[in-house]
Amino acid sequence: MKYDPHSPRASEFINHEEILATLKYADENKNNLELIDQILDKADQEKGLTHKEASVLLVCDDKERNERMRNLARRIKQDYYGNRIVFFAPLYLSNYCINGCVYCPYHAGSKTIKRKKLNKEELVREVTALQDMGHKRLAIETGEDPVNCPLEYVLESIDTIYSIKHKNGAIRRVNINIAATTVENYKRLKDAGIGTYILFQETYNKESYQKLHPFGPKSNYEYHTEAMDRAMEGGIDDVGIGVLFGLDSYRYELAALFMHAEHLEARFGVGPHTISVPRIKRAEGIDPGAFDNSIDDDIFAKLVTIIRIAVPYTGIIISTRESKECREKVLPLGVSQMSGASKTSVGGYAEEDIENEPTEQFDVSDNRTLDEVARWLMEMGYIPSFCTACYREGRTGDRFMQLCKTKQIGNCCQPNALMTLKEFLMDYASPETKAVGEKLIEKEIEKIPHPKVKEITLQNLKAIEDGKRDFRF
Ligand code: SAM
Repeated sequence: MKYDPHSPRASEFINHEEILATLKYADENKNNLELIDQILDKADQEKGLTHKEASVLLVCDDKERNERMRNLARRIKQDYYGNRIVFFAPLYLSNYCINGCVYCPYHAGSKTIKRKKLNKEELVREVTALQDMGHKRLAIETGEDPVNCPLEYVLESIDTIYSIKHKNGAIRRVNINIAATTVENYKRLKDAGIGTYILFQETYNKESYQKLHPFGPKSNYEYHTEAMDRAMEGGIDDVGIGVLFGLDSYRYELAALFMHAEHLEARFGVGPHTISVPRIKRAEGIDPGAFDNSIDDDIFAKLVTIIRIAVPYTGIIISTRESKECREKVLPLGVSQMSGASKTSVGGYAEEDIENEPTEQFDVSDNRTLDEVARWLMEMGYIPSFCTACYREGRTGDRFMQLCKTKQIGNCCQPNALMTLKEFLMDYASPETKAVGEKLIEKEIEKIPHPKVKEITLQNLKAIEDGKRDFRF
């Protein structure tokens, strides 16, 4: 099998021999400071790195070079994303599952997890509760079960979610994290108006993958690995990839993750919209200690740093699997989206009394309310953003990348972030959070480069105070 990023075949674009050769090359050059400096000089141009170059940086332990990597990551984050952090929340629709994923409490063999699927009334309650916190962007999550949770159910749920308007609330972007499916089904999801299609590879190492997914449709490594190709063929041009760190060696995974990004770029002209960096967590019947590739917070931060440097145009997502402290550490290194006040159980936002009936997918480490997380971000100088404008304006795929590449984000994302933050402050924030936020908006408005855009933003902010909603560039 030969490595070929243009190939539609998983074994060729995520080529095992190429990954092993990459890791060997990285080991051999771990102390080659001349090469490392050349790679860092290339990274300095903010155009990204190859999987081979990134793998060398990952093993480099020279203190000074690591400091340079972190500074570079901070600068790229500032240049492309500024100090904005986009918020989203996961929404679990169903935990029925016919797969055997050994790290996931939803696996078909579980006797203790309570199976649950939201009916329409329950879905309305969940979405209303999410709107009442201030969320505008969701990521739908389901287990895989064509009988109990067919695609039609997911499509109907998307329609319902978009139709609910409670007080000033609205869900304006629904991302989807559901099992690999057919081109036809991806077309139907696209037509339903989804934002990003997210699917984690879990592990790129085929041998481990097969052990970790012993049965069910997800056990087909090729079908799973080629899912993003089918999604793109189905017209979805914003796709989100990720690895579940802890399952296999992080060095193997990172090289493969970048190969996946290179493949999408080579084959479709557009790389992944986002990369997620979940780490395995305790869950009902799941002990993370049973997986011996766990990574500590320092390595985790280094992974975020390298991802930021290697793929500057790709958003990085961090979830509430991570603690407040860990989130604080990696935010400046490149994170652009985070979940807040998440519940990983089916029906968890509206129901109070589910303590004795476990339906959660995993434990969350950050249990704060959205108001608290928003205030914490603002106190550190970040702008919590509830923006969903790009996808609603048709700026997806390569058109979004163009916005990044031409650094027009300042005239577009900055005002959109401030206007959506203003809505949050007016409709959902506590008085303390509102006070912090108003000050921040006043300061951040000055950073909008184009005078006309700034003027319109000021007018819109005033209109939001007067009760109008949903402005965007
Ligand atoms: N069932 C779908 C699939 O096959 O990809 C949807 C995704 S599932 C609801 C969301 C993700 O949670 C999985 O892709 C997996 O990476 C992650 N996950 C599963 N078990 C986990 C655990 N114990 N700790 C942390 N993340 C976990």
